[in-house]
Amino acid sequence: MEKILCSVIVPMYNEEEVITETYTRLTKVMDGIGENYEIIFINDGSRDNTGAIIREFCKNNKRIKMIDFARNFGHQIAITAGMDYAAGECMVIIDGDLQDPPELIPDMIKIWRDGYDVVYGKRKSRQGETFFKKITAKAYYRILRGLTNVDIPVDTGDFRLIDRKVSEALKQLPERSRYVRGLMSWVGFKQTAIEFERSERFAGETKYPLKKMLKLAMDGIMSFSYKPLKLASYIGAILSGISFLYLIIVVIQKLFFPETSQSGWTSLIAVSLFFNGIILLMLGIIGEYIGRIYEEAKGRPLYIISELKNMEERIGPRYKTKQNTSPD
Ligand code: UDP
Ligand code: MG
Repeated sequence: MEKILCSVIVPMYNEEEVITETYTRLTKVMDGIGENYEIIFINDGSRDNTGAIIREFCKNNKRIKMIDFARNFGHQIAITAGMDYAAGECMVIIDGDLQDPPELIPDMIKIWRDGYDVVYGKRKSRQGETFFKKITAKAYYRILRGLTNVDIPVDTGDFRLIDRKVSEALKQLPERSRYVRGLMSWVGFKQTAIEFERSERFAGETKYPLKKMLKLAMDGIMSFSYKPLKLASYIGAILSGISFLYLIIVVIQKLFFPETSQSGWTSLIAVSLFFNGIILLMLGIIGEYIGRIYEEAKGRPLYIISELKNMEERIGPRYKTKQNTSPD
């Protein structure tokens, strides 16, 4: 088999409006490099024509490969599958909506050839995104940095080039709540940034509604830190200290100033509401972690593939389904 220099990994979820343009721009850039390459489209359970369009590309161009998921497993799982099946010496993970410019890939490859293992895209600016998204993203990356011990670079997404050895290392991390950019920082290697202007989505709407974004944000924090748990126990300790002091005051009041101890209905309700709120919040934090332990304990595969195209012979490292097991 001919050696592949670069695998481009593109997750696609209901992207029929952009996929043709993405294909055109990506193949143009990759052809310009003059090396053997492949583009792996992961169809993440799209309900529109995305799958059919990718199949069409695969028919006309053997460099286009497809991983067709049995349902929507989510962006982070899609890029994980892409890395699992990629054959290139290096891999580029890029969004399918052209927010990450494919034209940056040759520069990334140059930097990789200079000896870096991870070249991540750092967003200088973000166009076409709401004020709310920009401000929450900015705040989030900083909170994440404060809460976790792994050095996750600020203002970077999943757009990046990685060396094969990084993806090999990632295959050893089996966790389900995957925050891929965090995992990549965790495995280490020689990393550097390349700055770019994040442009508007070429067409269509974001496939990351608030709910999915919150999940990703929680995954980022919870998979890399148990500081929220620590915080819960600190707050608990401080509050029970204060409560104990107040208890002494109340007892003294009762014993020595019985006439004043009758009042205080409002403060009673206030204290009760406040503490119940805190307790529920802490239970919630603990619950989040327990839920994640439950997810991991089930040990289900990360994704189920219904079909591979133009790389039927490849075997994913995690699990072998019928389609991709070699007949031996
Ligand atoms: N995506 C995916 N599965 C999902 C959601 C998104 O594969 O469940 C893909 C989507 O098709 C796109 C990339 O992930 O290529 C980034 O999604 P999007 O552009 O909607 O996110 P945003 O840029 O708005 O954060
Ligand atoms: Mg996008």
